[in-house]
Amino acid sequence: MNDSPPVVVGAGPAGVRAAATLAAAGLAPIVLDEAPASGGQIYRRAPAGFTRPYRALYGFDAAKAHRLHDAFDGIRGGIDYRPDTLVWDLKHGALHCLSGKRSREVPYRDVILAPGARDRIIPFPGWTLPGIYTLGGAQIALKHQGCAIGHRIVFMGTGPLLYLVAYQYAKAGAGIAAVLDTAPFAAKSRALPGLLRGGSTFAKGLWYVAALRARGIVMANGIRPVAAEGMDTAVSALRYRNAAGTERRLACDAIAFGFGLSSETQLADLAEIPFAFDPVQQQFLPERDIAGRTPVRGVYLAGDGSGIAGADAAELGGERAALALLEDRGHAVNKPRVAALERALRKIAGFRVALDAAFPFPVDIAAGMPDETLLCRCESVTAGEFRRAARELDAGEMNRAKAFSRCGMGRCQGRVCGPAAAAVLAAALNLPPAQIGRLRGQPPVKPIPMGVGS
Ligand SMILES: Cc1cc2nc3c(=O)[nH]c(=O)nc-3n(C[C@H](O)[C@H](O)[C@H](O)COP(=O)(O)OP(=O)(O)OC[C@H]3O[C@@H](n4cnc5c(N)ncnc54)[C@H](O)[C@@H]3O)c2cc1C
Repeated sequence: MNDSPPVVVGAGPAGVRAAATLAAAGLAPIVLDEAPASGGQIYRRAPAGFTRPYRALYGFDAAKAHRLHDAFDGIRGGIDYRPDTLVWDLKHGALHCLSGKRSREVPYRDVILAPGARDRIIPFPGWTLPGIYTLGGAQIALKHQGCAIGHRIVFMGTGPLLYLVAYQYAKAGAGIAAVLDTAPFAAKSRALPGLLRGGSTFAKGLWYVAALRARGIVMANGIRPVAAEGMDTAVSALRYRNAAGTERRLACDAIAFGFGLSSETQLADLAEIPFAFDPVQQQFLPERDIAGRTPVRGVYLAGDGSGIAGADAAELGGERAALALLEDRGHAVNKPRVAALERALRKIAGFRVALDAAFPFPVDIAAGMPDETLLCRCESVTAGEFRRAARELDAGEMNRAKAFSRCGMGRCQGRVCGPAAAAVLAAALNLPPAQIGRLRGQPPVKPIPMGVGS
């Protein structure tokens, strides 16, 4: 059984480096990814037939994208790579994988989970109007399809992705109405000493801000969204309060919004890894050590799926987790390389703390969400209905509140509404978020067709 091929879920920066490290040690891992090509989010490959050069697609990160793609292409012949394969369940040592219309089991003894992250959103009145996208969704439209989401776009939210996506749109020639950040300027100033430790990553961020300013794009800090306006067919304006508390109205035909990222942790949950609340990232995360080892034997974690740390950390973490797996199988590993990887990961972790302080998740926006706001769009549950379930039905914990209100019970299984719903519940009951708990991961971790056969 020790010869059974290790399995890697995800072919983003973490999964690719994990697979390459295993392949270099003479193993032939199975690599499963729901996407049609490797690269993950940041180094997503252009569809076949697109001819845009790397520099145009990946900007400053073109060389890194090239290296990662080359690394994967170099091992493809020696591994069992299965693209277009969604891992929708994990139990009893097997992954349940949907490919086409068929579900098959892939047994594993050792698995490295590297499923990445998703946008973290906070619903606000009108957020479901056509023309409103997440920041990541807006970026995929541009990067993957070469489409802009509108002609007069408001970028709103917080985090590095806010400025990166706005910059990418500006560079592509799209019309930008404003870039509105919920993080106060003071938070960024306070975090400056830690941010400076980010070196070239911080410099890239400064460049994006400077480039947006140079184009005369309106930018503001410390804003609070009030509502999106529009008819059934399209968004037409965003109302928000500026840092001084004055309400403003901005005409637009599209909004891209997001408040950082949430780790994709459902498979780790199904693997029965214990979770703990991370006060810096304001989310529950699966327990693992710096090498990616978890308390569950044979299950390793790497990349943003184990905590948001960015693409460079994902590559380092993928390699480190693969080396941990090899060590645990009795292979000799390069100890100086292990030490260097761990040093680099610790350094990035320090910078991430500063980033999270500079762009804090605005818990107050979720906590103060107006009652009429659609909190769970899958099941049409408003913030008011959710609060009522919490207060009147004694739902003092996320899974009880879900059962009583149906919030988080629909197609997305709480992946979209969960983080904001937790903040709403914590505020409604005046409890710390760590006490509110988290929605348990349930299969299927992502929607699958009704008629799936095995
Ligand atoms: C939408 C979006 C856009 C981003 N854009 C940028 C950017 O431009 N620049 C930047 O610096 N950072 C960006 N980030 C953050 C960046 O993605 C990460 O820091 C980095 O890509 C993390 O690498 P990873 O390997 O951990 O995860 P990812 O790159 O996300 O790769 C995870 C892979 O796992 C696959 N996967 C997930 N779940 C399953 C499953 N159940 N079954 C099978 N396969 C699965 C996915 O298809 C994906 O290929 C973005 C994040 C998101 C969510």
